[in-house]
Amino acid sequence: MSDSASDAVSFLPLGNAPQSSAIGLYARATAGFDARLDETRALLREAHAQYGDGLLQSSSLGAEDMVITALLAELQLPVAVATLDTGRLHAETLALIPQIRAQYGIEVQVFTPVADAVVHFVKTRGENAMYESLALRKECCGIRKLEPLSRMLAGRSAWITGLRREQSANRAEVPFSEPDGQGRTKLNPLAAWSWADVWYFIQTRAVPYNALHDQFMPSIGCAPCTRAIAVGEDFRAGRWWWEDENAKECGLHKSKSNEELKSGATA
Ligand code: SF4
Repeated sequence: MSDSASDAVSFLPLGNAPQSSAIGLYARATAGFDARLDETRALLREAHAQYGDGLLQSSSLGAEDMVITALLAELQLPVAVATLDTGRLHAETLALIPQIRAQYGIEVQVFTPVADAVVHFVKTRGENAMYESLALRKECCGIRKLEPLSRMLAGRSAWITGLRREQSANRAEVPFSEPDGQGRTKLNPLAAWSWADVWYFIQTRAVPYNALHDQFMPSIGCAPCTRAIAVGEDFRAGRWWWEDENAKECGLHKSKSNEELKSGATA
């Protein structure tokens, strides 16, 4: 692990992170919310009408994805909901799976990496190799995220994500609908939502959410690659914080060929 990554990890260890309330901090009714909500509902209805069983929600179990799952339940759209359990997620993230079942009666499909590939990577590269180089971090994301994602999406014609334009400069142009580069359509029904919108919806509908959002973690991924952010930092500053700003995507939302996805070469 590099010194900078090590320092950052010890700066805000999870158990000692400051407590807050994400709802108290972020939830606000802002102008245009009702119109954005109506637009999102219409997009989800249209997507289900168009793609039927070919449609799937790929959920990270983050706040945005919890909003989408709640909307699918509210609209009674029988859309499959799936997530990736990389083997490095926080317990607080995994705890949402039974909560979704209890609150909405939705059974989240869980996709995991190939065990042999993980064992080989850890044995040869080390458990925390992601801190050593960008190439090793991408290799880890390739094994733990991209390969299972390719199985998750097999046989589907469209998938729903929680991407929003406001999340980062890299996502500033996110459209409501786009080709994913592998013959499917990727739908981003919350593209125009603000962070205040997300939390206003969560507050007013009592949507379950990751307890780590109350510990200054707006964007939550794997435990070794997520830290709390400080006041004034960017939304995704706590993800792969030791890397250059332009590298901070895992590849799940780039338009890549199947071979690239499987190899994780360009995550
Ligand atoms: S986010 Fe970190 S732990 Fe998770 S797959 Fe990528 S490099 Fe590995």
